[in-house]
Amino acid sequence: MKSYRKELWMDTDSRRAYLNITPQINECLKESGVKEGLLLCNAMHITASVFINDDESGLHADFDRWLEKLAPEKPYSQYQHNGFEDNGDAHLKRSIMGREVVVAVTNGKLDFGPWEQIFYGEFDGKRAKRILVKIIGE
Ligand code: ZN
Repeated sequence: MKSYRKELWMDTDSRRAYLNITPQINECLKESGVKEGLLLCNAMHITASVFINDDESGLHADFDRWLEKLAPEKPYSQYQHNGFEDNGDAHLKRSIMGREVVVAVTNGKLDFGPWEQIFYGEFDGKRAKRILVKIIGE
């Protein structure tokens, strides 16, 4: 069995961002040489997410507005977590949007349904963070 591991670095200019990382994940899959197996991709930080959805800018704006309604960034004082930090909202947003995705690898390709793409969701950005990519198979 082949096993592949890579860390990808992200560093967004804004506090929140939704980035399509499918091209980078496809590069990893190519590099791994795996044709049949499973690909795991997870955010290595507890204020960022990796999730699968549609690459449509209106939807990304909707995600952002929805998350801000559920866990508004401000006022910072509304969160008990914000004693020494200001990212209580980002931890909650990450929990809603999830930590990781697993995608089947078939014939050397990500076996997506129609319109599925992999996204990095950043909720406390402006600093370098990592994504883990693990691929196993033959
Ligand atoms: Zn925190």
